[in-house]
Amino acid sequence: MADDKKFDVAMSDDDWKKKLTPEQFHVLRKHGTERAGASPLDHLYEPGTYFCAGCGEPLFDSDTKFNSGSGWPSFYVPKDGAVETTTDRSFFMVRTEVHCQKCGGHLGHVFDDGPKPTGLRYCMNGCALDFKPGEKK
Ligand code: FE
Repeated sequence: MADDKKFDVAMSDDDWKKKLTPEQFHVLRKHGTERAGASPLDHLYEPGTYFCAGCGEPLFDSDTKFNSGSGWPSFYVPKDGAVETTTDRSFFMVRTEVHCQKCGGHLGHVFDDGPKPTGLRYCMNGCALDFKPGEKK
């Protein structure tokens, strides 16, 4: 995440730790990655909305979710203006990191091998998302 950027929702690490589970803190605030296949959201295809587990911002609609086979919940497009990206050069790779525009929480990465219509694959950590069935925002 862009450490120099100011986000609408900003809290100290101590405050985030109170709000989040240890795994969510590791992913959202420390750029971690959950184990593939760990999230029950990976194979969930109910209609609804996926919200940022950090700040509650609506991020993805269920109708943009697809099974990438990667072990992580995958979407072909985020909601308008919901996420931002940065270049991630960690682990000897160049990847595009995705974070919540409101709180800066790290969500995952986006790759260009997704399905139509965008050709993008937003590969998200399930623990960074809260799913609410039926809800459209
Ligand atoms: Fe957020």
